[in-house]
Amino acid sequence: MGELERDMEALAAFTDRGAGVTRLAWSPELRSAYDWLAGRCRQLGLDVEVDAAGNLLARWDTGRGPAVLMGSHIDTVPQGGRFDGALGVMGGLHAVRLLRKWGVAPRRPVWLVAFMDEENTRFNTALFGSRSFCGEDLGGLGDRRDADGVTLAEAMGAWGRDPERHGEARRIDDVGHYLELHVEQGPSLGAGGTDIGVVTSIVGLVGYRARVTGQTNHAGTTPMRLRRDALAGAARSVLAIRDQARAREDATANVGVIQVVPGSSNVIPGICELTIDLRAPSAAGLRELDDGCLAALRAIAGEEGLVLELAETYRVPPAPMSGELVELIEGAAAIEGASAARMPSGAGHDAMVLAAHVPAGMLLVPSRDGVSHSPDEYTSPSQCELGARVLARAVAALVS
Ligand SMILES: [Zn+2]
Repeated sequence: MGELERDMEALAAFTDRGAGVTRLAWSPELRSAYDWLAGRCRQLGLDVEVDAAGNLLARWDTGRGPAVLMGSHIDTVPQGGRFDGALGVMGGLHAVRLLRKWGVAPRRPVWLVAFMDEENTRFNTALFGSRSFCGEDLGGLGDRRDADGVTLAEAMGAWGRDPERHGEARRIDDVGHYLELHVEQGPSLGAGGTDIGVVTSIVGLVGYRARVTGQTNHAGTTPMRLRRDALAGAARSVLAIRDQARAREDATANVGVIQVVPGSSNVIPGICELTIDLRAPSAAGLRELDDGCLAALRAIAGEEGLVLELAETYRVPPAPMSGELVELIEGAAAIEGASAARMPSGAGHDAMVLAAHVPAGMLLVPSRDGVSHSPDEYTSPSQCELGARVLARAVAALVS
């Protein structure tokens, strides 16, 4: 068994009960995992600290100038997999090991980070660590409670941390480039037999709650041509939204919740509420998808005699990765004889926070059957190893 595989297995052992890996933000399991990881980093001669936002930062302070930062997260969703996030951190540590083995003498510092609370499972404080690291003001979150009623302030207090001092974690000004290795969490690489996905952009997303209002009436006595059926209009809308996404490369659209009022077999539905989630890797693509869907919804409402109300629930712009780093990662893959393909990431990552501040790059390795956030998440030891080697080659190119 290789060193990376051994590290991945050892890390997976830090888990709460149940299937898969459960290592929530600010939990005792995560604390134990940090203690173990800090030891592994120190064995490689790195300086380790856990900062004010709960990020574990390991520094190889050598050379001069802004650091090359590698990282990801080791918190998980409940009963998640052992690769999501973990590979980016343990792969980064392995990359340090490889740089040493290859005799690379970095002209710039090389840092490794495990960001706190990427997953957003416990306190609705997504990307807390990376956002603090980048200097975002996250004050006033201390009262947020988890499902057991524990506040963020209490959970952080158990780690000797105070939410109001998260700003002390700001270190982005000392960083020149950010690189994140991650599992794909989708099926594209596996389907194409490709070793490495090079992320061009992390998708932007727009969410809506749509309310379609027609006329509740008797299902048997109301002639078909006189009906204003909210569900029939919503059903047409669902298909129109799907067609809008299908007509555009890389776009996705999802209606995940639909509620029908009054919801009776002999009553024409008077009100229908649905959620809409739209994603695309470019700002222009997202705007086109957004405009196209809204126009289709309005047209259908008009044709069906319905009133359409739309409330925007979220809007996050796409995060383009650095073009320079895309080419650098492709070159690194070529050195390792790995096949590589450019692709957008449909999932959010710490890299999208970092990308607003420094050139950021992401490389993905295949997820078996595209499964993630599940105990069945799997990437083979050789695929993990190859990802870490390509990461190390990319870092070597940046620091040489
Ligand atoms: Zn992740």
